[in-house]
Amino acid sequence: MSGEDIYDIFAVHYGHHDRPAADNYIGGDTHDNQPLDYYVWAIVGANKTFVLDTGFDEAMGKKRKRNLVRPIADGLKAAGVDPAGVEDVILSHLHYDHSGNHDAFPRARYHVQDAEMAYATGRCMCHGFLKTPFEEEDVVAMVRKLYAGRVKFHDGASELAPGVTMHKIGGHSKGLQCVRVKTRRGYVVLASDCTHLYRHFETGRVFPTTYNPAEVVEGYDTLRRLATSDAHVVPGHDPEVLKRYPAAKPGLEGWVVRLDADPKQ
Ligand SMILES: [Zn+2]
Ligand SMILES: [Zn+2]
Repeated sequence: MSGEDIYDIFAVHYGHHDRPAADNYIGGDTHDNQPLDYYVWAIVGANKTFVLDTGFDEAMGKKRKRNLVRPIADGLKAAGVDPAGVEDVILSHLHYDHSGNHDAFPRARYHVQDAEMAYATGRCMCHGFLKTPFEEEDVVAMVRKLYAGRVKFHDGASELAPGVTMHKIGGHSKGLQCVRVKTRRGYVVLASDCTHLYRHFETGRVFPTTYNPAEVVEGYDTLRRLATSDAHVVPGHDPEVLKRYPAAKPGLEGWVVRLDADPKQ
């Protein structure tokens, strides 16, 4: 396949967190360790480039005790994307590991769900349990972008360009959305935190940070419906992604991988 509605997709690894597997599931888990990896994604077409999520920086990594492996700007540049030229950033949701690096995309408009902005600035943030994954400075930075005319709101499903659509799932965060991209191998779904690990959607289990577990498990069906196959669903935090997909170029192994390429068997 080729054409203006066909995109390349790069997963850019930027962070890592070693943790017990039990921390990743409501109800725990019998495995010993299950680290999380942290990514941003570049969706690159003939005429348009989108970046999904903006990660966290070194200071936030230190604060949250997560390891910043390489800054997101370095990874995007390695993928051939200059952050200074990016015009459209999609935020899956506003958690600290998806909405930092506020000044990395000076020309970009930010696409976010109505429900996520309302959630992060409303009464639910009175509760510590719900507020924990958000950072005040990330949310304030979005409000500033809003007043600077740099935020585009979406409600539910919307098309950003032929071949690129966003779909509200909710669940893990009230306005969480995934992105469906037409590629040479079919429709790939960038799930972000709609499924942290392959195991979440494969076994129907739920990550402990959640606004609404019913929406999380219903969301797994939506991911499957949107993707050409289960092998076209890309989890948001799974170290397996770096093993299953080929490097974007020699030398970028374990850092930048191609999601529009067939996964290794
Ligand atoms: Zn999250
Ligand atoms: Zn996350």
